[in-house]
Amino acid sequence: MRLIIATGNEDKVKEIGEILKDTDFEAVSMKQAGFTPDIVEDGTTFEENALIKAKAVHALTSGEYVMADDSGLCIDALGGAPGIYSARFCGEDSTYEEKFKKIFEMLGGVPEQERTARFVCAIAVVRPDGSSFTVRGEVEGILHEEPKGENGFGYDPIFYVPEFGMTTAQMSPSQKHAISHRGRALRAMVEKLTEKC
Ligand code: IMP
Repeated sequence: MRLIIATGNEDKVKEIGEILKDTDFEAVSMKQAGFTPDIVEDGTTFEENALIKAKAVHALTSGEYVMADDSGLCIDALGGAPGIYSARFCGEDSTYEEKFKKIFEMLGGVPEQERTARFVCAIAVVRPDGSSFTVRGEVEGILHEEPKGENGFGYDPIFYVPEFGMTTAQMSPSQKHAISHRGRALRAMVEKLTEKC
C-alpha cells in the first residue's frame, strides 16, 4: 500500500521509507504521486498544521493513505516560541546564525539551567476512508549559546541533550534518529498504522 508523504522534502520521504521497510506500506512523495498542491499552513498547533497538509493532499487522491508532519523548537522561557513558527522565526530569509542571535538576545539573563527547550514533531495520517489520527514525539534539551556540531540542520547546533553530553548537531544521524522528536513520532505512527492492518 502506498503512504503518500505530504512534503516537498525528498530526504524525509527516504527516512520514512527506511522506517516502513518491514511493513506493508511504501513511502511515496507527493511529487512522485503527481501532486504539487500549494498548502496554506494556518493552524495554531503542530497537530493542526500536520492535519491541514495531510487532508489537503488526501483530497486530491482517490482515497489513499497520506501522512504529513509539522515540527519545531519550543523554548520554555519564551512561552513555547518559536514553536510552529520555527522555520519563519526572524523572517523567512534569515539565517540560522541570525535566529540563534535573536533567541539569545530574547533569553537575556535567563540562566543556562532554565534555558530548557524541546523539539516537537506532530504527524498526521489520513486513511483512505478520510478518518485520521495524529501522534507526537518530543525530545528535551537545553539551549547552548555556543553553536556546536556540523550534522543535522536548523536549530541542531544550539540544542544540547544533557544525557548525551552533546548537541543534536554533534550526533550521528542514527544517534539523533534514535532519540529525536521525528524518530519518536515516526515510530509511534508506524505502530498505529500497522495495528489497523
Ligand atoms: P518542518 O516541520 O520540517 O518544516 O520544520 C520546521 C522547522 O523546525 C525547521 O525548519 C527547523 O527550523 C525546526 N526543526 C524541526 N526539526 C528540527 C530538527 O530536528 N533539528 C533542528 N531544527 C528542527
